[in-house]
Amino acid sequence: MRLSTLALALAFPLVAAAAPTTIPDAAMKTAAELRERALADTLAWEITEGLTTEVGPRLAGSEADARAREWMIARFKALGFDKVWTEPVTYPKWVRRSEHAEIVSPFPQPLALTALGYSAATPDGGLRAEVVAFESLEALQAAAREAVEGRIVYIGTTRMDEKAGRGYGQGSQVRGRGPSLASSKGAAAFLLRSVGPEDTRLPHTGVTRFEDGVAAIPAAALSNPDADQLERILKRGQPVVLRLALDCGIEGEYTGANVIAEMRGRSRPNEYYLTGGHLDSWDLGTGAVDDAAGIAIATAAAHLIAQLPKRPARSIRVVAFANEEAGLYGGREYAEKHRKEIARAILGSESDAGSDRIVKLTATVKPEARGAIDRIAEALAPLGIEYDRNAPGAGGSDLSAVHAVGMAGLSLHQDTTRYFAWHHTANDTLDKVDLEQLRQNVAAYAVAMYLAAEAKGDFGSKPGAFARKP
Ligand SMILES: [Zn+2]
Repeated sequence: MRLSTLALALAFPLVAAAAPTTIPDAAMKTAAELRERALADTLAWEITEGLTTEVGPRLAGSEADARAREWMIARFKALGFDKVWTEPVTYPKWVRRSEHAEIVSPFPQPLALTALGYSAATPDGGLRAEVVAFESLEALQAAAREAVEGRIVYIGTTRMDEKAGRGYGQGSQVRGRGPSLASSKGAAAFLLRSVGPEDTRLPHTGVTRFEDGVAAIPAAALSNPDADQLERILKRGQPVVLRLALDCGIEGEYTGANVIAEMRGRSRPNEYYLTGGHLDSWDLGTGAVDDAAGIAIATAAAHLIAQLPKRPARSIRVVAFANEEAGLYGGREYAEKHRKEIARAILGSESDAGSDRIVKLTATVKPEARGAIDRIAEALAPLGIEYDRNAPGAGGSDLSAVHAVGMAGLSLHQDTTRYFAWHHTANDTLDKVDLEQLRQNVAAYAVAMYLAAEAKGDFGSKPGAFARKP
């Protein structure tokens, strides 16, 4: 290309820059009204209270899982959503019946523990074996088979410290990969320190995953004080023998469903803002902060928007996802089923980190839509929500799968200082939900959902749009 042609091409680009996505001033005014109304909302509390009281624990595939779906369908219909439907989700059904552990020698005493999701059962009468401890997954990886075979592997990483922002990622890696790695080296069972910062004797469950071709073994988490106790005993230097009796395991396949409700938009009803939470919970508590609150926040925010004298242009879709806890089954199924028409899901956010206040907004959208996110941030600022313009936002746990197939994401990050002590434990109960903080969440969701649903232009959702570069 000659220089003059190049100069011409630079001065008059043939491809016009795409028009920026904008938010009308009138919508900002309505959003401010919604925000105030949400701060007096009682629906989110009623839903959290109702689901945790009338259904209780909702382990995926259990009898209560089916009752939770019926409860949710009835609630969505009673709230006047325009359309309520289900989409099937199939997964291996895991059950927990009983669990017990004790130190046999050198200092006999019981230990508090809980089996991990997809743990195998111990043989009838329990399993007795010596403990071999490792400091990390890497140390277990490096160990010779002879050091592990026939033993109970224990990994006791440092206790999670949420205030220092340390530990959940590392701990959940140990939980997710440790049992399979131990089994591949012939271990009889696997134990880890609970992935949580607190000092109660209520251990944290959570899912683990056995690689293809690796046999499932018994796998469980000790509460933090019990992990401390085991470590003190190990330090005495004598062989430590445990007896484990876990009655749990996979019982075939189960088909549950995502429960979906939609509030129809005014002029572009085929496009929708995607929100929700997961309907299942672990079985130890009643799943109040994980994740009845998430479903309640999304539903209450959508309901407030539906009550406006003038609906936003686009629809609001709330999904109560199936079986998030044992491996994002509902989110992945939704992403698979809707991937071809993912452009219709203009933006998505869901709450799955408790019910404490939202402290930060981040988003992953096309560059031309950044100005619209800036406007949403402006409308959220009075709620004390900071905006990190440069950090990504995949929308939330279930929505991460939907984001991965091309939906733009907006993340409303909660203060999780209290959350990690309770989730996945018997302590995840309604008394942990704080009404004022729950309302702040509803306000933030209502504002973000309304403004995006009323925006002129899109946020960049299309198949493969936000796929990570290798
Ligand atoms: Zn959750």
